[in-house]
Amino acid sequence: MNIILLGAPGSGKGTQAAKLVDYFDLAHIATGDMLRAAVAGQTPLGIEAKKYMDAGDLVPDLVVIGMIGERLAAMGAARGFILDGFPRTAAQAIALDEQLAELQRGLDAAVAIELDPEIIVKRMSSRRFCPLCGRTTTATEGDACATCDGDLVIRDDDKEEVVRNRLTVYAENTAPLIDYYRGKGILRTIKGDQPVDAVYYDLLAAIGQ
Ligand code: ADP
Ligand code: ZN
Repeated sequence: MNIILLGAPGSGKGTQAAKLVDYFDLAHIATGDMLRAAVAGQTPLGIEAKKYMDAGDLVPDLVVIGMIGERLAAMGAARGFILDGFPRTAAQAIALDEQLAELQRGLDAAVAIELDPEIIVKRMSSRRFCPLCGRTTTATEGDACATCDGDLVIRDDDKEEVVRNRLTVYAENTAPLIDYYRGKGILRTIKGDQPVDAVYYDLLAAIGQ
């Protein structure tokens, strides 16, 4: 099973992807997590990516396409994957098709999580991040990470003006991919404005499970 999760920042892609990979033995390929790990490790790629991420802009296509290409190529052919946060542009979607064709792999579904932008802005203001273990959670968890006891922080790119820019970037660059996958006949849409488990239930139905 090879799945793409589409949806605006804050629509719950990461949460749903984590539930899916727990249940099925899938690789969770999240470009945002990979990029944040590169930033934390101060690799050349991370240093380059950070300035775009802090502004809520997209990291250049070539950087992200190269990173995903390596990740897919390194993966065992038997294992399915869930792509979370990639592709985000038409160029990335086309590159992905080429990479998958080379690896003789297909896509089973692209699931778009739909959510009103104003709800997203509200959600993001209560989102917290643990720099120590990389986990995303909410302010209701308190000041310390329940997994590793690290200090929870607000991600630089979750500040309101940056969130608004990310939503504009999403509408301009990423939302058109919904039509791209509809054209391929693999698009499914689900409603994101529901409790996590209800979204997950709809997601399972959307992928025929
Ligand atoms: P969100 O939680 O908003 O979905 P992510 O954690 O997926 O955000 O990504 C955070 C940031 O990383 C993005 O705002 C962008 O700067 C960068 N990024 C992640 N994935 C991509 C991608 N496929 N192409 C370009 N930039 C990306
Ligand atoms: Zn932690």
